[in-house]
Amino acid sequence: MMGNLKLGNLDITSITEIESFSIPLDTLFPDFNIKLLEKMNPIDPVIMSNGLVHLTIRSWLIKKSGNFILIDSCIGAEKNRSNHSSWYKRSGRKWLTALSKNGLKPEDIDVVICTHLHADHVGWNTRLENGSWVPTFPNARYICGRIEYEYWEHLTNTSDKHGAFSDSVLPIVKAGKMILVEDNYEIVNGLTVEIGPGHTPGHLCLNAKEGAIFCGDIIHSPLQLSYPNISSVFCEDPVLARTTRKKILSKAAETGQYLIPAHFRDPGWIRIRETKLGYKQI
Ligand SMILES: [Zn+2]
Repeated sequence: MMGNLKLGNLDITSITEIESFSIPLDTLFPDFNIKLLEKMNPIDPVIMSNGLVHLTIRSWLIKKSGNFILIDSCIGAEKNRSNHSSWYKRSGRKWLTALSKNGLKPEDIDVVICTHLHADHVGWNTRLENGSWVPTFPNARYICGRIEYEYWEHLTNTSDKHGAFSDSVLPIVKAGKMILVEDNYEIVNGLTVEIGPGHTPGHLCLNAKEGAIFCGDIIHSPLQLSYPNISSVFCEDPVLARTTRKKILSKAAETGQYLIPAHFRDPGWIRIRETKLGYKQI
């Protein structure tokens, strides 16, 4: 297990669903090659080993001024995700246990932020009750970028390949609990949304005035610190994703803010500085 990151009155904890989810390097990053890797040696085996890149699937729990805020909601329980065996109809015990270790029940969560609407970020939005998907967090307002929502709404019939929009997003909208937001929306005092497009069209980053940028899937692995130009196979617009990634990395290096992506291994937060080869963890 891991600790918390405390920044002023912001308390940040990982609610981890899968510690190590591994994807072959050439699948995740088609533009990576062995020559680029050689310049990075040695590579921490926690990040990559035997040609597999290891990612963590987690939510971030923020405690701030009496509010409990969840950033992203992982894969969820009982979801019919047949394209990854480890995502298929999970029991959900691990994630709920991690939440309860923080003294919390789903009804204690005040805000759920969806950085974007991919299946590994919205799963716990809903749970199965008597055959229907209902909000897991009955007292929460859910936040999603308007651009993001409208993109997936239009594509649902053809591209909702995981089924996540139907079983984890629409039930929230039907329950009247989804708030669609624009750029610069303030969620609570000092925690503000910033649209960072590319991975998905309306991907949200969150700026915390205490000194952190929650940047979702703007960057997937520390391998991209050295090569910020390289986008993942999951980026809907790899060129725009690159522009956004470079902007966020440059900002984090300049300001010294913590960079807190969704999928880095524990502890999951880093600070960076610029080097001859991209960026390096401080
Ligand atoms: Zn993701």
